[in-house]
Amino acid sequence: MNNKEDHFKKVISHAKEYGFVFQSSEIYDGLNAVYDYGQNGAELKKNIREYWWKAMVHINSNIVGLDSAIFMHPTVWKASGHVDAFNDPLVDNKDSKKRYRADVLIEDYCSKIELKINKEINKGKKRYGDDFDLTEFISTNKKIIDYQNKIDSISKRLASSLENENLSDVKQLIEELEIADPLTGSKNWTDVKQFNLMFGTKLGAASEHSTDLYLRPETAQGIFVNFLNVQKSGRMKIPFGIAQTGKAFRNEIVARQFIFRMREFEQMEMQFFIKPGTQNKWYKYWKENRLNWHLSLGMGEEKYRFHDHGKLAHYADAATDIEFKFPFGFKELEGIHSRTDYDLNQHEKFTGKKLRFYDPEMNESYTPYVLETSIGLDRMFLAVLSSSLIEEILENNSIRKVLKIPSVLAPYKAAILPLVKKDGLPEIGKKILNDLKLDFNVFFDEKDAIGRRYRRQDAIGTPLCITVDHQTLNDMTVTIRFRDSMEQQRVNVNELLPLINKYASMKNWLNKL
Ligand code: ATP
Repeated sequence: MNNKEDHFKKVISHAKEYGFVFQSSEIYDGLNAVYDYGQNGAELKKNIREYWWKAMVHINSNIVGLDSAIFMHPTVWKASGHVDAFNDPLVDNKDSKKRYRADVLIEDYCSKIELKINKEINKGKKRYGDDFDLTEFISTNKKIIDYQNKIDSISKRLASSLENENLSDVKQLIEELEIADPLTGSKNWTDVKQFNLMFGTKLGAASEHSTDLYLRPETAQGIFVNFLNVQKSGRMKIPFGIAQTGKAFRNEIVARQFIFRMREFEQMEMQFFIKPGTQNKWYKYWKENRLNWHLSLGMGEEKYRFHDHGKLAHYADAATDIEFKFPFGFKELEGIHSRTDYDLNQHEKFTGKKLRFYDPEMNESYTPYVLETSIGLDRMFLAVLSSSLIEEILENNSIRKVLKIPSVLAPYKAAILPLVKKDGLPEIGKKILNDLKLDFNVFFDEKDAIGRRYRRQDAIGTPLCITVDHQTLNDMTVTIRFRDSMEQQRVNVNELLPLINKYASMKNWLNKL
């Protein structure tokens, strides 16, 4: 097992052991690619959602929220293109009977070539030391140029075959590259087929009168169909945005990698309605804005990169992903799409109703263009959890497992720990708890030795521990222990609220944006 796999396994078992994420219906042996969030996970998830909501809706006076239903009229999905085009190409291995996404098999093949490029670069760094010039090395090293050309030509061919629905060429590509089943090594593949990712269900009790419905595969369409409702009732002027968070459902062909790819997940999406012709400006604006939101959490600039799309979805004229360095490599965390007027036009066509914006200053109506930002809440959760879990070796050689979660997102902001369970210390601790609990989520723990209690808080990412001891009886001071540095300070109980505010309040963190 390599280090990355090892780290990912540790993240998954930590998530279970400390009440962040459980397999759904675990006592029935679980349900594939569906997960439940435990007591700490529910708090972390809520905090991420709130951090997003405040940054999008509360900070921007021209963005408002929406909470639309999961069920929608079935024609919505015809109009949006999902019934006809929301497909993934699947391929089965005849020997192992395992099912794969054909495009992902090919992309993984390219990632392996990328690893070879990185190896060459590392060799070059060693050979040339301080004189190493990356740009020059990449553009002159024969092996790297060949590898890069190979990646480019494979990616181009895959994009064009998918675009033209030429699935037999996708299969041919798999065969030419001699791609094998990653689990068994077999190269015995079926033909590549399209597979629609929407879940169907029925509305109504009597089967002869029931209507076929879909569980929404994205929250965006709820925003499009309410565009005029919100614009008129909120007297919104272009440019303006509508944001919402909520569940989405996709019958993913291969749902592995824990909560990275689930069948039921939550999205946080924002559609920004703009004047046609201004999409380049707003595309740049939202790329920068969203990256800043991520960077404000301080998880490290080197963990993010943009990946501009070669193959565009049927509705887009430009698209990029913000990729995050997950334990299994750089993968999409958020999408930023310039969706043109495709969706509003389609809904006009299918409903016969005008979905236009009347601009009183110009005295004209037009169909707005749309810039979309779309992030998976569960993927963001995995990004936070996987990059925060750290094992430190302490001076006495013991291992400290600590979740260095950005303190604004931590499930508990502070833990109150009476040193002993007597002499009136628990009573003072309870009083501190009551004084803080309406401002922040705080934890009270009086069991076990203090060292073990610190470790429990480290493992769930609590940034501050407040210890009540015998000195507190005399002068109402307590010790504050900081999670990351393990340093301790003595402060008066009156200073606790301002200190937690400074360290962990949304307001302070959002001010950095
Ligand atoms: P992918 O290429 O990984 O399948 P996508 O391009 O289909 O993702 P979008 O349709 O752009 O994803 O959805 C927006 C965001 O929703 C993604 O960036 C991702 O964070 C999240 N998301 C999409 N599918 C899933 C899923 N099955 N499980 C968890 N999150 C998801």
